[in-house]
Amino acid sequence: MPVEASPSLNLDLGAISRELDTASAWDILRWSVETFGPKLTMATAFGPEGCAILHMLSHVDPDRKVRVFNLDTGYQFRETLELRDRVAERYGIEVELVRADSTVEQFEAANGGPVYSTEPDRCCFERKIVPLRQAVVGYDAWISSIRAEQSEHRARADVVGWDKKFDLVKVNPLLRWSRRDVWAFIVSNKVPYNPLHDQGYPSIGCWPCTRAVAEGETDERAGRWAGQAKTECGLHSLDSSQL
Ligand code: SF4
Repeated sequence: MPVEASPSLNLDLGAISRELDTASAWDILRWSVETFGPKLTMATAFGPEGCAILHMLSHVDPDRKVRVFNLDTGYQFRETLELRDRVAERYGIEVELVRADSTVEQFEAANGGPVYSTEPDRCCFERKIVPLRQAVVGYDAWISSIRAEQSEHRARADVVGWDKKFDLVKVNPLLRWSRRDVWAFIVSNKVPYNPLHDQGYPSIGCWPCTRAVAEGETDERAGRWAGQAKTECGLHSLDSSQL
């Protein structure tokens, strides 16, 4: 898929992405920190990929120029929020919690109950997409933790590309990594990770929309929105119809 040049930065993202496609995740991250500096931000849900990137970022960005945030929907697992504290302790990276304007209680009261059961796309839109849009105003680029092998549409992403949805350059340092690569990195570097991964949750989002997977289930995202057609929250969809 052709990569569009960023109108605001005058970068040839297609050429850059081709050049970085076979670069190491460290080099991709280093390039993004050097290119965008404090105009670079990172959203993390504290998945194993995000934790691996935070480990690298702690070395590549020693002055902590890059703002890191988590979209705190109000429905996160306790273990996920505790991991935020462990990351701060280990790396000195204080991950900011970015929230929707309404609390979960207000959101549910205004909509007659839990929106995740009736309109999960709208729930993700209100609790994740809208706060992300607000959080990235003024930034030039964001780092995401997606990997190509996670889904068909993630496989169509580029290492560096223009993200039309958020009007930002999107940098995907782990795009070419396998799940095995991620865990090998975590184990060898003793990177903190969510203990729920040891309890049958390969992919962790909000508690109402995440379940453990059965032994033998090969789709690592099988526990996300199980039983629904929905497979993505919309942050990484390539077009707005996938929200
Ligand atoms: Fe709502 Fe579920 Fe999306 Fe979380 S993952 S924002 S609870 S629909």
